[in-house]
Amino acid sequence: MDITVIGCWGAYPEKNEATSGYLVECGGAKILLDCGSGVLSRLQNHCALEELDAVVLTHTHADHIADAYSLEFAILVLMQIGERTKPLDVYANEADIGKLAFEYPNCVRVHPIRAGEATTIGDARLEFSENVHEIPCLAVKLTSPEGKTLVYSGDTGYCEALIELSRSADVLIVESSFYDIQAGRMKGHLTAGEAGKIAALAGAGQTILTHLPHYGERNQLVTEASRHYKGPIRLAYCDMKINI
Ligand SMILES: [Zn+2]
Ligand SMILES: [Zn+2]
Repeated sequence: MDITVIGCWGAYPEKNEATSGYLVECGGAKILLDCGSGVLSRLQNHCALEELDAVVLTHTHADHIADAYSLEFAILVLMQIGERTKPLDVYANEADIGKLAFEYPNCVRVHPIRAGEATTIGDARLEFSENVHEIPCLAVKLTSPEGKTLVYSGDTGYCEALIELSRSADVLIVESSFYDIQAGRMKGHLTAGEAGKIAALAGAGQTILTHLPHYGERNQLVTEASRHYKGPIRLAYCDMKINI
């Protein structure tokens, strides 16, 4: 399984970068987890849009979905000029289906997903759990045919279901929106310490902190998470690659 961080910022992208987007090549499929602001442009450094098989949307906040509609237009144009023959499969929380604004069903096929259920994309298996967030949001677990596992948290506050989903995951990409000193300021997001606790309780093989804040000394997030989690831990960055 090859994982590429396309964007790692919470809320809005830093200059020339992107908010949430993670390209996973697994089981013969190229799967994009979230498609936030800036992702569509940066994605093309790593994956031709003709080759993208599927997008999984954790929830409908703009920093996770803003570029999905531009991606639909890209698919439309590529199909019109014959550069792409198959539509893009978009997997979205059943609770969000009515909120989505895709306009071309011949270009984008939307598939509802639910917490506690599994689906397959190519030979990759996907499972989902319900997060704690202002709006419905799913965490995603991908399992390769070789049995390697990635869990991506999406946006969440402290959440037992995420710990369960992340049990023994080879890689946990977990949001870390706040510093520990900000604990309790905003529900629906994790402090670095909480992210570290979740990684520790899940027994994750390695942990990547993401959905990063635009202020402060971000290495402090690693320090705070490492008080709880003793495995390898790093900050996500644009174009980061992880192979498992
Ligand atoms: Zn977000
Ligand atoms: Zn959100």
